[in-house]
Amino acid sequence: MDFKDYIRVIPDFPQPGISFKDITTLLKDGEMYRKAINELKVMVSDLKIDVIAGPEARGFVVGAPLAYALGVGFAPIRKSGKLPGETIEVGYDLEYGKDTLAMHTDAIEKGQNVLIADDLLATGGTIATSINLIEQLGGNVVGAAFLIELSDLNGRAKLPEKIDVFTLMNY
Ligand code: 5GP
Repeated sequence: MDFKDYIRVIPDFPQPGISFKDITTLLKDGEMYRKAINELKVMVSDLKIDVIAGPEARGFVVGAPLAYALGVGFAPIRKSGKLPGETIEVGYDLEYGKDTLAMHTDAIEKGQNVLIADDLLATGGTIATSINLIEQLGGNVVGAAFLIELSDLNGRAKLPEKIDVFTLMNY
């Protein structure tokens, strides 16, 4: 069975023209969910990772189990106004709409190697913003891991070359 067999493609969500890749159909299958996280774990095994950072909400679903599997910490990247402590914020454009992402100022120690995890790489705006936040905190982004990459949108081009990008599925 291919991972793609577990992705439900929903046309015109959340707005006309967007072909949404729904991962909930993969997540609800325990065996495939574990297989997907294990496969990402193998892909990133050559990297030295101190902490994983994931943007809400689907970045938590990929990043937290991956952090658990690797035995490293997890740093949440959240929408503005959600984190209770002192934060830094950066605004960005989405594939659809605009938003602001935030991190706690103590989420990353200076010099730590950080892997970013999310469900899907589209235009790369979310990950570029996440990199901006992590680097402002003194972190060193060594890689980014995704379940899905929308190759035509060329999000990889937005990311610095030194960052290794790992994806399980391409559309
Ligand atoms: P980007 O910032 O790379 O353009 O968009 C990626 C972000 O938007 C990810 O955080 C992802 O969760 C969300 N996203 C955009 N399109 C899709 C989609 O088709 N399926 C899913 N599951 N998430 C999407």
